[in-house]
Amino acid sequence: MQYSEIMVRYGELSTKGRNRKAFIGRLNGNVVKTLHDFPDLRIRPKRDRLHIELNGTPSQPVMDRLSKVFGIQSFSPSIEVEKNMDAVYDNALALMNETAPQGASFKVETKRSDKTFELDTNGMNLALGDFFDEKRPDLVVKMKHPDVTLRVEVRREAIYLSTETVKGAGGLPVGTASKAAMMLSGGIDSPVAAYLALKRGVDIEMVHFFSPPYTSDNALNKAKELTAKLTPYGGSIKFIAVPFAHIQEEIKAKVPEGYLMTIQRRLMLRLTEAIAKQNGDMAIFNGESVGQVASQTLASMAAINDVTVMPIVRPVATMDKTEIIALAEKIDTYELSIMPFEDCCTIFAPPSPKTQPKIDKARYYETKIDVEGLMAESMAGLQVTQIRPGQEFLNQDQDIIADLL
Ligand code: ATP
Ligand code: MG
Repeated sequence: MQYSEIMVRYGELSTKGRNRKAFIGRLNGNVVKTLHDFPDLRIRPKRDRLHIELNGTPSQPVMDRLSKVFGIQSFSPSIEVEKNMDAVYDNALALMNETAPQGASFKVETKRSDKTFELDTNGMNLALGDFFDEKRPDLVVKMKHPDVTLRVEVRREAIYLSTETVKGAGGLPVGTASKAAMMLSGGIDSPVAAYLALKRGVDIEMVHFFSPPYTSDNALNKAKELTAKLTPYGGSIKFIAVPFAHIQEEIKAKVPEGYLMTIQRRLMLRLTEAIAKQNGDMAIFNGESVGQVASQTLASMAAINDVTVMPIVRPVATMDKTEIIALAEKIDTYELSIMPFEDCCTIFAPPSPKTQPKIDKARYYETKIDVEGLMAESMAGLQVTQIRPGQEFLNQDQDIIADLL
């Protein structure tokens, strides 16, 4: 079926004037961006709906992209017909023949914004009911939970027919909720946390700690590739790689083993905060989940969180690992996340980190290293890349296999 437009319904839209404008404006911008390579589309944001005129473009690839845009509640591929009943009957029959199988139950649901049209909503429902009674006697009218709902919208410019309503990604348009720094490792949890941050409209930039020569190029590329996996949801994303090896060497040399992990995490957080402040970010997001590992007990979080008053948001804090994995599979990061490239933290992980570190001890052991100097060195070595949809970073199979052996 060649549809004439995709009708997009807004998600969690606050009804206040300015917010509404910002929401619609941002959503429109994000939709335009994600559909930029379909030249024939015409995208028209309106107060209640966003209309994407297809002008001959196949609907499916457009809908695949739309399903990843936050701020959309649902959308329907629709046929635009002239405002006369003959046109409505012809097109409604063609549409129902394609989408309503033999013997299906159905109902007609009409909305009318043009009050001058010859039939009112009830009249339209009845007229189409009678019409299908004659042309498709196999169909059964059912008001509650029918198999197919034929939606008819009578608007000033035309009448729109649709039978399909696809659930959108929900959430808020990315960019409506300020900017934040996202601590992205190569693991399972942080990409999911990043997805959930984007879902609430937060514009994230990735902060990734890497430790050459202890970690390989592939570990860094894996984090970049994970970022690329999130671009269908967030558009292009800034990726900031932070050199961390020297700090880890210093900590390893000067801090007792039980506090290695705590002090490393405090330094990661200090650096993330410094980057966030530099870039005007309002908060830090990470992939911590309460009780998952030694560094994620509440005592440990407290001893690490001690270095900053910037809000730290932990979207997966209360999720079980199985729930996190299910989301990772849904957003297609799981397979990548389980590739075994050594991460900076695994390399310097102590055999038995403290699960109940004390804040004052953490503060004390941290004085054993030159926090200011080491941070300045890392900040001078930041590597910033902009990661765009469709980019690949782990495509050299040879290297990957060599690294795994
Ligand atoms: P993940 O799957 O996200 O790596 P994890 O269960 O392995 O989580 P940890 O390794 O303890 O947990 O890390 C907790 C959080 O700390 C991560 O979710 C991430 O936000 C942050 N983090 C850990 N390692 C790095 C890194 N190399 N670069 C940036 N952030 C990191
Ligand atoms: Mg990890």
